[in-house]
Amino acid sequence: MTDPMKTYMSRNVPRYTSYPTAPHFSKDVGAREYAAWLAELSPDDPVSLYLHVPYCRELCWYCGCNMKLAKKDAPVAQYAATLTQEIAVLAAHLPERMKVSHLAWGGGTPTALKPDDLERAMNEVRARFDIIDGAELAIESDPRTLTSEMITRIGQLGFTRASFGVQEFDPKVQKAINRIQPPDMVRRSVDGLREAGVNSINFDLIYGLPHQTVETLLETIGLCAEMRPDRIALFGYAHVPWMAKKQRLIDEAALPGPEARLAQAQAAAEALVNAGYVAIGLDHFALPDDAMAQAAANGTLRRNFQGYTTDRAETMLGVGVTSIGRTPSGYFQNIAETGAWARAVEAGELPVGKGVAFKDQDALRGHVIERLMCIGEVDLDDAGRCFDAPRHWYAEHEAELIVLQADGLITRQGGKLKVTERGMQVVRVVASAFDAYFSSSPARHAVAV
Ligand code: SF4
Repeated sequence: MTDPMKTYMSRNVPRYTSYPTAPHFSKDVGAREYAAWLAELSPDDPVSLYLHVPYCRELCWYCGCNMKLAKKDAPVAQYAATLTQEIAVLAAHLPERMKVSHLAWGGGTPTALKPDDLERAMNEVRARFDIIDGAELAIESDPRTLTSEMITRIGQLGFTRASFGVQEFDPKVQKAINRIQPPDMVRRSVDGLREAGVNSINFDLIYGLPHQTVETLLETIGLCAEMRPDRIALFGYAHVPWMAKKQRLIDEAALPGPEARLAQAQAAAEALVNAGYVAIGLDHFALPDDAMAQAAANGTLRRNFQGYTTDRAETMLGVGVTSIGRTPSGYFQNIAETGAWARAVEAGELPVGKGVAFKDQDALRGHVIERLMCIGEVDLDDAGRCFDAPRHWYAEHEAELIVLQADGLITRQGGKLKVTERGMQVVRVVASAFDAYFSSSPARHAVAV
């Protein structure tokens, strides 16, 4: 008899960094709707800021991001100037000067900016918002292009966390994905940032890459454990060349199959736990004294477009092309085309391209999916009461829940649902049971493991 796990693992399901998920955003939601949502925000509630830089100095073939290769400095400098202007445009639409509890620069590669441009943007943030004491200020970087001048400036600007895409240290795998960064290069960046006062370091690792094996991954984890990052995210490589054209450069014949991917994911998770990290949600690991490990333990862990987070703000304001944000009324996404985005900003308009307003049971289903993804359990009856849903609102999903239970992915006591250890391997499949928009079309999502 076929093991049902094989079927679950090869299912194409969303990553649930939002609900409704990004393919359901529409142009019906634009700058007018977003302006109204911003005007409704309570100045008492801190917000989170996300600033997006789409440029990278090098191209990685596995990349699924919407990035641009920066061969020259001028477009990047112009982009930084427009992004700085957008911070002012955004602030002008807010009801009052707002407090910021969390700020993150993502990309692309934010450190593709010149240090002076990064500083100008951060000065604009501080001029328009109050960054509260203890706020997390995070930035993504690339060890291949991070300069010592930028490391010093990151420290001076008060950043508290830096993230690196480490992925895998094996030279053959690095060559197959066009990301050559030996361990010493990463170590120098980590040591430099720590000396500059950035106390918290994140690494991203990937399994399922071409030529990758359990052995290469365990070797990589051994080297990472020596550098002792505070958090490690372990993602499965999502091969979606129909969406991410760069991935057509990847040799498909060298990709591990579903069983090898699962073996890699399991071996890596075990090695990280043995190295002293706490497993969190679907794909994160943190040292026990890290805020994310504590949030997972006390049930306050959240999930947003950056993955798992300790950021508890209900509102995230996105700045920069393609950046996504949310308010209590819905999600929005900035225009993806740089020229159109810049023209809107220069005209003093919110450069929103699309979005989705919450309706019907969106907030309830989003909450249930987030709880499953973050802590692997939820009380469906309690959730229904919190969101004023009819009793037994989940009746339409009973048949699917019975199958998930029979296959050992969940346990249930009435409305209390808990994802089993086996089920956590495919928790996105469990979450998809509550997704009213879900389509299993392979053209839209990556496989579950
Ligand atoms: S993986 Fe990161 S650094 Fe590489 S191309 Fe994509 S966004 Fe740029």
